[in-house]
Amino acid sequence: MSSPSSTPPDRATLPAAIPSGANLAALRDHNAATVLTLVRAATATAAVTATAADRATQATGGTSGRAGVSRVELARQSGLTAQAISKIVQRLLDDGLLAEAGRGASTGGKPRTLLTLVPDARWAVGVQLGRDALTVLRADLTGRVVADRQVAIDLAAWGPGRVLDLLAEQVSWLLGAVPPERVLGVGIASPGPLDQRAGVLHQVTGAPSWDGLALRDEVAGRLGLPTLIEKDSTAGVLSGLGSPDRAFVHLDRGLGAGLVLGGAVQRGARTNAGEFGHQTIDPDGPRCRCGNSGCVEALWAAARSPREAAGVLGEAIANLVRLLDLDEIVLGGREVLAAPDLYLAEVRRVLAARLPDPTWQPVTVSVAPSGPNAVALGAAGLVLARLFG
Ligand SMILES: [Zn+2]
Repeated sequence: MSSPSSTPPDRATLPAAIPSGANLAALRDHNAATVLTLVRAATATAAVTATAADRATQATGGTSGRAGVSRVELARQSGLTAQAISKIVQRLLDDGLLAEAGRGASTGGKPRTLLTLVPDARWAVGVQLGRDALTVLRADLTGRVVADRQVAIDLAAWGPGRVLDLLAEQVSWLLGAVPPERVLGVGIASPGPLDQRAGVLHQVTGAPSWDGLALRDEVAGRLGLPTLIEKDSTAGVLSGLGSPDRAFVHLDRGLGAGLVLGGAVQRGARTNAGEFGHQTIDPDGPRCRCGNSGCVEALWAAARSPREAAGVLGEAIANLVRLLDLDEIVLGGREVLAAPDLYLAEVRRVLAARLPDPTWQPVTVSVAPSGPNAVALGAAGLVLARLFG
């Protein structure tokens, strides 16, 4: 599954790579997803360009260019025939997902009609089910959050029935009068461990009443909407654009990382990849709540100052970068957001000290721009990814 704002697919992955005999409907959807992704990318690129152009032309009283992409350009970028593009575009126009936005520059012939994405044609709901808070948000097709809310819960004490009833109530508030057919679905990010494919929770630490709960089906049954679940840290890595080799490091009530390697989300055999909070980095270190000693989480908790704690996270991230050859780290979670400058400085300092050649292996470190909404936004991104492929 790709990021909610992934770059256009590589030409090599386009229809020629689909095995012969592939289901025709699936092929059609794949091509439609490709076109939607290209239009979204063109709209985003044009928006950035327009912003720069606006700045440049404000002084001279000029006007900026239009956003969008022509059918001819879509055919060139996708490798699909002009006839196929024409059919797909017409269907997407009929569905209200695309709009004709005016005419672009011509290379000699008549000016070409430009196509843009209609951001509010469909909506995605993102939910972060936390141990003590429930975050819900509604995002448009570009991943922009238009409404959000956070309410306090007690995951362990309340149990599934009360929490999920509240979740359904909050999502209903969020959607208001939006017709159900314009809601793509609900993505739920939850503490692990869980089975993402089966949609079932698995022994959530300290919350035994949730063990084995079919979270996906429980929520789908209450809301009547397509529902997906994902581990919280993995959802976080889907909250924005980024490098094909990156991690979202989530430091909240626990520590985990969401991983994208080679452009693909990595979940591992049991949806358990990235659980690096319980790696032992000092066997003689303090006892951890997991029963082992000297885990990253235990050293972080035992630190004598906020700076030392941030340094422990830096050491763990340096190990992660050396193991996986990552070039981008995005930090999130309440502990980081409580002291973002300190965490940024310490993680950067430790990476500079631990990597053998930082000039050859540069690593970008930032705090998630969506802040406290990062995980819920990534959950909405799961839903958007089903439309964009
Ligand atoms: Zn541990």
